[in-house]
Amino acid sequence: MLILIVEDDPISGKLLKRMLESWGHEVLVAGDGDEAWNIVQSRKVKFVIADWLMPGMDGVTLCRKIRSSEDAGYIYFILLTSKDKKEDIITGLDAGADDYVIKPFERGELKVRVRAGERILNLERELNDQNEKLNRLNTKLEGLIRLDPLMNIGNRRYFYETIDKVHQHARRYAKGYGIIMCDIDNFKSFNDIYGHLGGDGILKMVADATRKSVRASDHIFRFGGEEIVIVLPEQDLESTTLVADKIRGNVEALDIQHKGSSRGVLTISCGAAAFDGSNPDLRWETVLDLADRALYQAKSLGRNQVCSSSERAETGIGS
Ligand code: GH3
Ligand code: MG
Ligand code: MG
Ligand code: MG
Repeated sequence: MLILIVEDDPISGKLLKRMLESWGHEVLVAGDGDEAWNIVQSRKVKFVIADWLMPGMDGVTLCRKIRSSEDAGYIYFILLTSKDKKEDIITGLDAGADDYVIKPFERGELKVRVRAGERILNLERELNDQNEKLNRLNTKLEGLIRLDPLMNIGNRRYFYETIDKVHQHARRYAKGYGIIMCDIDNFKSFNDIYGHLGGDGILKMVADATRKSVRASDHIFRFGGEEIVIVLPEQDLESTTLVADKIRGNVEALDIQHKGSSRGVLTISCGAAAFDGSNPDLRWETVLDLADRALYQAKSLGRNQVCSSSERAETGIGS
């Protein structure tokens, strides 16, 4: 263990250094509190044995200073001093010292007290390691509870969180956003023909094609079954509709055979809607509903196409 000795008397410092080294420790020596403070900050010292009375910063002041600025974890602090009155001991411990050893001291006594300090520091390190591990797991868990494991995109719970934030942001800063609802065409028959497992693989491919069609700042979620919803911050209805058609085209370009579809390949239909700030009272639920209605229209017009829907009118593009 690296131990810092703070001692203004060079002979005492040297003797103590030799003693600690004979117990297997690496030792640094500072002649006063100021020097010690510099060393504590520049080296990763976790263990300090300090004299009390020294020119410049004394041991108790050094201890207080260390305690008030502990961002490098816990530092075990032993005051080693000839001040032996009860009030002195109270003052020393009150300043934050972990232990108090009165000079002249017994070699054996110091040895066991140093060992006790080492045990505490080891426990502290173990605790920190466990905490770090726990934090890493928590971060992972936070991600997992928002993720759809099959499609590897956000789940519906995460959609609700996100749309709420995006909507609030848009209202507050008078910005717009778009919503796209996508639904795989004739997917039921795909499952019937190619099996449910085959269908699962397709869901993943469609999600990947969707991700490749949008910007990193857009948010993709599995809304349910074979439906994907995309939230596009800062987009209007026109650009949202264009993105929807890009997704539709990219899924068609996957060229996945689908005997149950009149086109012979797997396709999707999309509905697009947008919040443009012109009606600040519009709720996101209404925007979602508009996208859903546009999707329904795309289905009824023959599938593999995009329809967009505003409060005023509904239009369609696609093949
Ligand atoms: P439409 O073109 O009108 O959308 O027809 P469709 O057959 O796709 O629509 P419908 O909503 O009737 O069927 C959706 C199908 O999606 C039914 C269900 O078996 C399938 N599905 C939903 N979730 C999953 C899933 O996790 N895996 C697989 N393989 N299929 C799923
Ligand atoms: Mg002294
Ligand atoms: Mg569906
Ligand atoms: Mg479908």
